[in-house]
Amino acid sequence: MAFELPSLPYATDALEPHIDARTMEIHHGKHHNGYTTKLNAAIAGTALEGNSIDAILSELDMSNAAVRNNGGGYYNHCLFWEVMSPDAGEMSPELSEAINKAFGSFDGFKDAFSKAAATQFGSGWAWLCVHEDGSLDVCGTPNQDNPLMPNVGCGGTPVLGLDVWEHAYYLNYQNRRPDYIEAFFNVVNWSEVSKRYATR
Ligand code: MN
Repeated sequence: MAFELPSLPYATDALEPHIDARTMEIHHGKHHNGYTTKLNAAIAGTALEGNSIDAILSELDMSNAAVRNNGGGYYNHCLFWEVMSPDAGEMSPELSEAINKAFGSFDGFKDAFSKAAATQFGSGWAWLCVHEDGSLDVCGTPNQDNPLMPNVGCGGTPVLGLDVWEHAYYLNYQNRRPDYIEAFFNVVNWSEVSKRYATR
């Protein structure tokens, strides 16, 4: 069973003015579609075919560039669309407590996450991850790497991710990555992030 490009859970213009429709169309329809197609090609006929994407990434041979880049790209964007929404939802008390414990306050978390996103040189992602004991960490990773992969970033399971590749923001923000990071916080789906925290 090949991996399929998931539909966006909202219209391409639903996140405007924070993320514009044209960027969403290209990002989902071209970039994510490309990672999906290339991931399927990379695993076809290998022992990885039929495995879940979580299993493929957590047991990844990091020297396998095709699966690392396209498997990461497939997983990362699947998560990215889901953790955004025009409706912010509500953060669970459990997640709120874990954020306060790790970062002192929500603002402390926002500062740490924004710094990871802003200082990731070149293309990459910022992550909020949960460890098995429920504790939280923030990190940045290059390219399409993510903390599910062996010895990448802070480890743990991503519950929130922000794409800081230029293709994610350049049409609307040009080189103003900090403005894009600030805008992202207007479209985070805290219900979904809380669900991912609870089902780690
Ligand atoms: Mn992207």
